[in-house]
Amino acid sequence: MSGGSPDTGDPRCPRCGVALAPIPRTPVLTYRCPGCDGRAATLAALRREHDSPELTELWFQARRASPAGGLACPTCPSSMKRVALDPRGLAIELDVCTICETIWLDPGELERLPVTPRPTSPPDPLLPGAEDALVDARVRGYLAHQRSLAHAQQVGTALEWLCVLVGWWA
Ligand SMILES: [Zn+2]
Ligand SMILES: [Zn+2]
Repeated sequence: MSGGSPDTGDPRCPRCGVALAPIPRTPVLTYRCPGCDGRAATLAALRREHDSPELTELWFQARRASPAGGLACPTCPSSMKRVALDPRGLAIELDVCTICETIWLDPGELERLPVTPRPTSPPDPLLPGAEDALVDARVRGYLAHQRSLAHAQQVGTALEWLCVLVGWWA
């Protein structure tokens, strides 16, 4: 009632100790640290938005991981567990609390994630009679789009979705 209870307050950054602020307009309720730009969301919310085998695997890895030396959970008194993922040969580490399912993303880790190239739009036709070329460009653009979708479904997709869901990539 009096406010300021240390155990039940707003989520705090495990690195800076400052209060995290909810980010407006993210698909999943996400908190951001104004100091280091780290993000916190819950695994349950992420899975509601984008369930994937990778997120399940992330959870199982966290359950098996040792809690030794883990960061403090932003939202509960527990320690998080460091989980290493390896999309496309990059060792990405996330912190997961197996008590309250909070997942913490360090900005330094996210910056290293490769972005699946987005399809570029076909060029505008500049000359009369360039319509055939435009159709070709559209077909090529469509095929590139399909390829990048298929690619995203194969590798790194859960992490890419994670970045989108927590507002890292708008
Ligand atoms: Zn911070
Ligand atoms: Zn927790």
